[in-house]
Amino acid sequence: ATHLVWLRNDLRINDNSALHAACRSANARVIALFIATPGQWAQHHMAPKQAEFIWQSLLDVQRSLAKKGIPLHIAECDDFTASVALLQDFCREQRVDRLFYNYQYEVNERQRDAMVERTLFDQDVMVQGFDDSLLLPPGSVLTGNREMYKVFTPFSRAFVKRLKEGLPECLPAPDVRNGGAIDTHDHSLTAFNYPREAVDARLFPAGEQAAIARLREFCQQPVTEYPEQRDLPARDGTSRLSVYLATGVLSPRQCLHRLLKQHPRGLEDQQVFVWLNELIWREFYRHLLVAWPSLCRHQPFTRWTRGVKWRDDKQGLLAWQQGKTGYPIVDAAMRQLNSLGWMHNRLRMITASFLVKDLLIDWREGERYFMSQLLDGDLAANNGGWQWAASTGTDAAPYFRIFNPTTQGERFDKSGEFIRHWLPELRAVPEKYIHQPHEWAKKSQQSLDYPLPIVEHKQARQQTLDAFEAARKQT
Ligand code: FAD
Repeated sequence: ATHLVWLRNDLRINDNSALHAACRSANARVIALFIATPGQWAQHHMAPKQAEFIWQSLLDVQRSLAKKGIPLHIAECDDFTASVALLQDFCREQRVDRLFYNYQYEVNERQRDAMVERTLFDQDVMVQGFDDSLLLPPGSVLTGNREMYKVFTPFSRAFVKRLKEGLPECLPAPDVRNGGAIDTHDHSLTAFNYPREAVDARLFPAGEQAAIARLREFCQQPVTEYPEQRDLPARDGTSRLSVYLATGVLSPRQCLHRLLKQHPRGLEDQQVFVWLNELIWREFYRHLLVAWPSLCRHQPFTRWTRGVKWRDDKQGLLAWQQGKTGYPIVDAAMRQLNSLGWMHNRLRMITASFLVKDLLIDWREGERYFMSQLLDGDLAANNGGWQWAASTGTDAAPYFRIFNPTTQGERFDKSGEFIRHWLPELRAVPEKYIHQPHEWAKKSQQSLDYPLPIVEHKQARQQTLDAFEAARKQT
């Protein structure tokens, strides 16, 4: 029998449910396939850096699979619809009997998979899907009324209770197939037909082994200091594992098991749990997406916020994107994003708040821009984060709580270390003035090659409050 593993955002050989199931029968011929869909990726605004990271991860997984005697084919077609036909042809050519794949939960992905299941059924191919990218499957953590939680804290509590009842298993990489290792001579494409951009390999080295090494290192010491360090962007205080989780180079079960191996009381230990709770946020947003698929269509969770009259401000949007708003913490953060394809979580909150609450620009503009730049771009987490910041989500920041970008900078980058790193034009500004550099320039009669603030925060804040209140009154 021929077993096909269809890889999507699960680019690893360890703890991969579909791959593990496909290899269960020792006699089956196991092959793997990845289908690049550049047209679809463009529709989803995938970042060129993420495309490069996926490409490198694929080559790595291709080598690892070859050592196990499993060839990985890389094919390309325009979009998800075309990928259904491609898969059909591939199964026919390779005489596939069974297809194994891990679920994706977004609407377009689910529609594609439903189509695949239907067409392959007609072709007598048995299809088996797996819940793999989460610790607990969507729909398995519910309120007493059997509904999805709308608020995070009780969701997290129920989640931990479920984990204490039994941990999800972590599966080993498959054994070498009977025929032994194969060469990775590549009969596939040289690269995707999609823009790609270099990734900083020092911060985000590609490959499963690099991800596992980073996870191990983080779980040894840094995780215990995470509660104190995680809000300080100048520190290397977070795991920086998001890109591996978003592309499936690493699974959340691997994270959980490694954490508990190092800290056996991780589910109770307050310090260590803070990090685990972030992984549960990741789960929360994915579970929400399945319970409310309209989130995939970028609809606000809170209906009345549809009535907010956003400003059409192309220049403001551009200044924000380029890191030229005149607010140092916002600009440094956006330059970090544009340069690395990654931004610290505290800064994602500050910059998102600035776009929505200071510039009163539609949060979907920000969501799209983040997606187009982020290495770890992930619909559920990105949409969840934006709807949180914009106060349009469930369990979001209330609309009247508006970050002051200057005091946020003073709080989380007090000495300006992070700001100076990303804004060389402010290196000479003394610590006392780093969050309001033009005050220093005026006082000391220096000229600064740095824009004046594009909005006055107090005024902008009032404008936003008025816009939200007007929308609320309409309903
Ligand atoms: P750590 O602090 O080490 O956290 C560990 C892991 O938990 C992360 O790798 C991530 O997988 C998960 N996680 C942490 N915080 C969150 C969160 N708030 N929501 C969901 N998962 C979380 N994360 C993405 O993975 N992709 C995105 O596209 C994305 N967009 C965001 C947009 C906005 C506006 C905001 C406010 C947050 C967004 N996040 C996103 C969440 C978070 O900022 C990143 O996951 C985090 O900064 C990644 O760094 P890390 O791996 O060092 O995280």
